[in-house]
Amino acid sequence: MSALRSQPLQPLNSGQLNARTNSVTPVKPVKRYKENLQQVEQKQQTKKKKEKLSALCKTPPSVVRTRNGRDYRRGNFLGEGGFARCFQMKDASGQIYAAKTVAKASIKNEKTKTKLLSEIKIHKSLKHPNIVNFVDCFEDDINVYILLEICPNQSLMELLKNRKRVTEPEVRYFMVEVVGAIKYLHSRRVIHRDLKLGNIFFDPDMNLKIGDFGLASVLPTTDSKKYTICGTPNYIAPEVLGGKNTGHGFEVDIWAIGIMMYALLVGKPPFQAKDVNVIYERIKKTEYYFPEDKPISESAKQLIKDLLSLNPLNRPTIDEILSYEWFKGPFPDRTREVSLLEAPEGLEYISRVQSSINFKSAKDMAGIYTPKSKNPVEILRSDLHSEQPKAMLPQSLSPNNTKNKYQEVEPDQLGRPKRVNFNSQFSTTIKRLNETCFETYQNIRRLEHSKHDAIDAMELPKCENPTLISKWVDYSNKYGFSYQLTNDDIGVLFNDENTLLKLHNSNKFLELIYHEDEGWTCIENSLAHPPVQAKRQLEIVDFFAKYMNSNLSKVSENEERKEVVFLRRYTRTPEYIMFEMTNGNFQFNFKDHHKICISKSGLAITHISPNRFTQTHPLILIMQQGDFPKEPVPDCSRKIAIIKEAIKKRAFKET
Ligand code: ADP
Repeated sequence: MSALRSQPLQPLNSGQLNARTNSVTPVKPVKRYKENLQQVEQKQQTKKKKEKLSALCKTPPSVVRTRNGRDYRRGNFLGEGGFARCFQMKDASGQIYAAKTVAKASIKNEKTKTKLLSEIKIHKSLKHPNIVNFVDCFEDDINVYILLEICPNQSLMELLKNRKRVTEPEVRYFMVEVVGAIKYLHSRRVIHRDLKLGNIFFDPDMNLKIGDFGLASVLPTTDSKKYTICGTPNYIAPEVLGGKNTGHGFEVDIWAIGIMMYALLVGKPPFQAKDVNVIYERIKKTEYYFPEDKPISESAKQLIKDLLSLNPLNRPTIDEILSYEWFKGPFPDRTREVSLLEAPEGLEYISRVQSSINFKSAKDMAGIYTPKSKNPVEILRSDLHSEQPKAMLPQSLSPNNTKNKYQEVEPDQLGRPKRVNFNSQFSTTIKRLNETCFETYQNIRRLEHSKHDAIDAMELPKCENPTLISKWVDYSNKYGFSYQLTNDDIGVLFNDENTLLKLHNSNKFLELIYHEDEGWTCIENSLAHPPVQAKRQLEIVDFFAKYMNSNLSKVSENEERKEVVFLRRYTRTPEYIMFEMTNGNFQFNFKDHHKICISKSGLAITHISPNRFTQTHPLILIMQQGDFPKEPVPDCSRKIAIIKEAIKKRAFKET
């Protein structure tokens, strides 16, 4: 990890903020600052019409508060594109992000608004190790903020500027990362359409991350085409220049890979010229050459030639690229920070065997072997329609609606919250909990009626020991009810019904929280960066955990986590304590220290003896035999009758 995470936010430099530069990376002071202010202002007057929209983006306030109450402290200016300015933002836990900030004043018409919302929608749905991670989006009266994973080591463009040319082994490594990300994008039918060195950033660990989805588009089918002319002149594919006549598809990104590879190895893009029209003419004729004074290998040339094929269909597919001979050359195990400034030593001496190992592991890390991702992104008209008059972001994209926010985001190594789709068909809402009681009760009744039928005519459930509550502490007069599961996860059902589950052997914890718009939602957080409001709750969990570990013995042996289970409700009587779990199971701890769990909606029954012997069978068998086969249960039939009555009572109770 780079030191950046712990680095304090630096104050903003007002000079940087007010700069009107056409450079896309005003991180370093640009020449224009040196001109006197008057000159600059004059120039600005005359150039007013040509000003970039990003110029409308004023410095955000020092603290940006989101609608769901999170505060972000604004830090220093990171850079500027055509549309947005980027600032550091720090959350309450000290985690630093990049906030791509778009002035609402620059969103003058529906088209621009739709463009921004589609960028957000697409970016938000992506999750890949080589794609800048989308964290959140929110707005205030002035700006829309897109919170992103911070990439503090600038982009490939700055690397090339510093280095002039990059060595073949380093470029091989970059190419694998880029190809991995593009393969992922295309599998989701997303074309980036603006791949260029300036849009590929380095994260704190020097992994490449593709960013800026401002021109990205989702193709309705794999072979459909787009007709808008867009992109950055040097990187535009010939078929894009054909505009309305030819149309373009995924191959434009393959072309851009060719341009980048050439640029990194040779030092400048292949069709570079002062006049944009000359660039276009050269592109249309694929007129470029390999300068003799900057020699590159024949196998590199071959790959570039194929990537820059005029006919998009002659370009290698994303899967074919990595089978080119060129990738058999020396291959490093990672990119080092020194690469930003100078060529690392010794890369050309990496052995064939080591290179092949490194190549394989780089492909692995770039997700090359990962099977095709889930459903392609889909952009619905309703996603782009804001319900509130003043708001820019529709509910579906704003953090107020956790449903969409968390549904699409996949696990996140950096520990940002994500919605977890766990056995939600079961008892997360109280209504659903009562329905589960009803179904279970009905099944038990049905089994009672068919007790005398032949067993082989029945469909028996698959019997496995369920996840059980192995220890518990009732501290509801103060905080809530705490429990430890047989998989060693520890949870607390707080008095306000929200619950938290600390996963054993993991740096994650889950919260089952109530949300106004969509009811009960399960959210995953990292222990390293818990949301502010969860910190106190985590302390309480730890307090309980300590207590249970030192004072209580376990009900049953440890086991692996088979599923995520929360305690959702409990009922205490003099005879038993009943636990209702989110997976639909019921556990009864009787006062004689025997425990019984009803699972599979009432079809299976588990007995846990005081000496922790656990057995699970179809309930019908136990009903027929009147007892458990391996170890007898005192008053077994009576216990089952008590269970049935308890579940029935719950099923017919209002809340
Ligand atoms: P635009 O859509 O206006 O082109 P970009 O997405 O290219 O905006 O962002 C503008 C600039 O902000 C980039 O050139 C870069 O300097 C900086 N930037 C963007 N994303 C990040 C990030 N994740 N981390 C650090 N800097 C970033």
